[in-house]
Amino acid sequence: MADAETTMVKYSKKSLWERIYILEIARGLAITISHFINNIAELRRGKVGMTYQYPEIPKPIDSVWKGEHRLMHRPDGTPRCVACNCCATACPADCIHIVAEDTGRDGVEKYPIAFDIDILQCVFCGMCVEACPCDAIRMDTGKFPEAGYEGPVRILDIDYLMNNHPEGVNKISEAIY
Ligand code: SF4
Ligand code: SF4
Repeated sequence: MADAETTMVKYSKKSLWERIYILEIARGLAITISHFINNIAELRRGKVGMTYQYPEIPKPIDSVWKGEHRLMHRPDGTPRCVACNCCATACPADCIHIVAEDTGRDGVEKYPIAFDIDILQCVFCGMCVEACPCDAIRMDTGKFPEAGYEGPVRILDIDYLMNNHPEGVNKISEAIY
């Protein structure tokens, strides 16, 4: 058996103040009191404070956060998606399942007849959006799977994804391909 190397660690001697912890206790109290005063000030200014009454009052989120997916449309209302499977291949959680069908049209070879995302398996990494060559899938809805007694909808299917557009946001992609 090989000899294990031993490292001696020397501990510095604590001063009297450090040993009775008075200063550290005072520092901890000062931080707690400052949070308390800040919260009272925020409440007086009409802000909700640190606690959000979710799900009735959701916490405001930044637009850079990735939310539920949506599938973009062509001007004629058909899916922008060409069922190439790039998103499903890039997905690290293996939670996208696509069934393709021939369009029978020139210019666009395939389209999805099924497009399922298992949202409870999704890790919201955005790799599917990055991998898509057609701007057919976006994650800018600002929505997240809702908690509840019934549980969230687990599978987001093609009907849901094609209609999952926030109000006032364009659902037609301007991509040229
Ligand atoms: S966000 Fe990530 S985990 Fe979720 S479907 Fe897209 S690639 Fe998969
Ligand atoms: S969403 Fe984009 S990457 Fe995924 S199958 Fe459709 S075209 Fe391909």
